[in-house]
Amino acid sequence: MSLITTSDALVDICKSLSRADYLTVDTEFMREGTFWPRLCLLQIAGPDDAVAVDPLADSLDLSPLFELLADANIVKVMHAARQDMEIFFHLTGELPHPLFDTQVAAMVCGFGDQVGYEALVAKLTGARLDKSSRFTDWAQRPLSEEQLNYALGDVTYLRPAYEALRDRVEETGRLHWIEEEIALLSDPAIYRIEPAAAWRRLKPKRSEPRYLAVLQAVAAWREREAMERDLPRNRVVRDETLLQIAARPPTDAKALDRVRGLSRGFSNSRLGAGLLDAVAEGRAVPPESAPTAPPKRDLPAGIGPLTDLLKVLLKHKCEEHQVAQRLVANVSDLELIAADDDADVVALKGWRRELFGADALRLKHGKVALAATGTHVRVVPVNGAGDVDALPASEPANNGGKRRRSGRRRKRKDAPATAPEAVDGETA
Ligand SMILES: [Zn+2]
Repeated sequence: MSLITTSDALVDICKSLSRADYLTVDTEFMREGTFWPRLCLLQIAGPDDAVAVDPLADSLDLSPLFELLADANIVKVMHAARQDMEIFFHLTGELPHPLFDTQVAAMVCGFGDQVGYEALVAKLTGARLDKSSRFTDWAQRPLSEEQLNYALGDVTYLRPAYEALRDRVEETGRLHWIEEEIALLSDPAIYRIEPAAAWRRLKPKRSEPRYLAVLQAVAAWREREAMERDLPRNRVVRDETLLQIAARPPTDAKALDRVRGLSRGFSNSRLGAGLLDAVAEGRAVPPESAPTAPPKRDLPAGIGPLTDLLKVLLKHKCEEHQVAQRLVANVSDLELIAADDDADVVALKGWRRELFGADALRLKHGKVALAATGTHVRVVPVNGAGDVDALPASEPANNGGKRRRSGRRRKRKDAPATAPEAVDGETA
């Protein structure tokens, strides 16, 4: 069993691993009762080696391993990398790079949105992994033989899975389909914790400047407390309590005492004083400097049915092309397309437009339709699309049910089809 617990052994193995083109990487961690996930085991495999490293071992220096993770010449392969990346970022201030996420790659290989590791490995290699150790206590020492076997399986089977996916992605020319997703996971900004932005995750229900200013201040205070004391946010003060405080800001310890959800004695503690300071800080923010809630999108009434129609098209196209829907468009994108032909959404650009966006617009304007044959949905050209085009093409068929008078019809800027246009091909 390869469990690395000494710095010397780690230096040796890292020397060997440094010759690899790619390394598979995984971590086991616990995050119950803490703000920061607690790294309990770190697994890494190259073509010849597979080891588990014990970050809890006394005086084990992990820096040779972190150097490998930062080595730009070695691809780091992870499955569903986000949490692992978050851990490395917190530990080192850097992200493993370059990254290949097999869960992301699987999205363009017909495995759906978020395929699990075991399912992916079973499909690609035929191996059946024993999952029974997954939710065991990874902080205990010594780790059991089963735990270590399970943990190593998370990197050893990742090797053939990676190679199969990489080849498939290359053969199908879909590397650029996943590059954005991987670039997003490699962006430090998504792992950086900004106390000033913490209020957004509380889903404020009101939008008055004073309310939001107090909410921002108390949420930022809680974020800093939670980080410093390494406690889950809700262990410092619960979300509901912060929302309640923003709605009726207490100005002294007595008023704080009356806030529901705070423990007895809280108002006179150091924490209580800090929270009151934050409230005062929030109250002092002039309205024009207060944060603003994200604007509610103003969608035309009645676009629901069209959005649903686009959903069916999306599902059909994604199944046909073996790509996860999430990668192409989400519901909000579909609503924007339903409302506006020139919506600024990725689904109307690049490969996504070819795969889905172009037909979405054709569907919207009655030039293609969805039909079924037996159990299969097909996209079919609409005969006599001229009739359909008699409706103003520039008007989303959903402008609140009011159709403009024909005399005031706007002309489409971008070369509208005045005659029925031949549908170019892409019927399923
Ligand atoms: Zn794992």
